[in-house]
Amino acid sequence: MEIIFKRKDPAVLWEDLLAKSIKRSDELPNMEGFNSPDIDQVVKIYPMLINPYYFNLIRSDNRLMKQAIPDIREIESHKGYIDPLDEENLSPVPGLTHKYPDRVLFLISGRCAMYCRFCNRKRKVGHPSMVTEESIKEGLRYIEKTKTIRDVLLSGGDPLLLSDERLDSILSKVKAIDHVEIIRIGSRVPCTLPQRITPELLNIFKKHHPLYINTHFNHPAEITPESSMACKMIADAGIPLGCQTVLLKGINDDIVTISELMRRLLAIRVKPYYLFQADLVKGTSHFWTPLTKGIEIMAGLQGNISGIGVPRFVIDLPYGGGKIPVLPEYVKAIKGDQIILRNYQGIEFRYPVIS
Ligand SMILES: *Cc1c(COP(=O)(O)O)cnc(C)c1O
Ligand code: SF4
Repeated sequence: MEIIFKRKDPAVLWEDLLAKSIKRSDELPNMEGFNSPDIDQVVKIYPMLINPYYFNLIRSDNRLMKQAIPDIREIESHKGYIDPLDEENLSPVPGLTHKYPDRVLFLISGRCAMYCRFCNRKRKVGHPSMVTEESIKEGLRYIEKTKTIRDVLLSGGDPLLLSDERLDSILSKVKAIDHVEIIRIGSRVPCTLPQRITPELLNIFKKHHPLYINTHFNHPAEITPESSMACKMIADAGIPLGCQTVLLKGINDDIVTISELMRRLLAIRVKPYYLFQADLVKGTSHFWTPLTKGIEIMAGLQGNISGIGVPRFVIDLPYGGGKIPVLPEYVKAIKGDQIILRNYQGIEFRYPVIS
């Protein structure tokens, strides 16, 4: 099917929107619940940026607002780690993390269309030194000389805030490396600035298959006509779309919200991939949920919504331990030649242990 989403000059549209982003408290409209002195203090350390599309979306919903508006607890709480995943120590060159044998995380942009307050790279997103021309060159050189790398994950910041030309050039360079089999892009833009997904951008992507995109939605209210259109366009370009959701206290930490989100993601052709326990990032402890909450939500999803809508619940361990899937317990006991299993309704069954 032809993509029927033509705009006069899409590049101008998304760049215009970004240029009109809110960055200081005095640019916020006069609304209940904003404490300007607090916001000013926080943004000295952790920048704020909310583009007009996302601002319109969140202004009526306090739960969405918490993702974007700074909170004084970001600088008052001392819990957590500055670099919870130990990315800096696992970086052979700046901006590239090599934790698993066959894949790397390669940061190619330091900017995002909205700075999520719970971001696990809070220490550096929005700072110009996060990604430089030089760090990208060094990253490419590292991937080229490291023959075990099969899978390159482009991340940031948000890779899709780069210009079409810049992305095309980086994708071409990665793709030209013989041992790289697939490229993945991690981007929140389909959710936070869907206008960025243009036919021109998709034409570039189509040259670089096999390409996968993992996006990031946290709440069903983020699924709008605009974000749905962006995801459908990506899917129409032949790009499998996944979603990495973060479990966030007071935003989506209940079964009703998460199951609605997962179902609605499937309807816009996005496959839920990971549900993350929020990382132990310094300045984000007000978003943390008890681990039992995530397990309870997973138990509520399994069996009750389509299996393809059930993500894996994972903890990304501090100290570079990697991602660990955490599952509700379905095996109750093994007794002799019988295994006792619990189904999604909590009913116990016996099944033979075949030896
Ligand atoms: C999450 C992550 C990956 C990718 O993990 P998958 O489970 O393959 O999606 C790769 N490298 C780093 C450093 C990561 O944090
Ligand atoms: S879009 Fe991703 S990288 Fe950017 S602030 Fe949000 S969580 Fe962090």
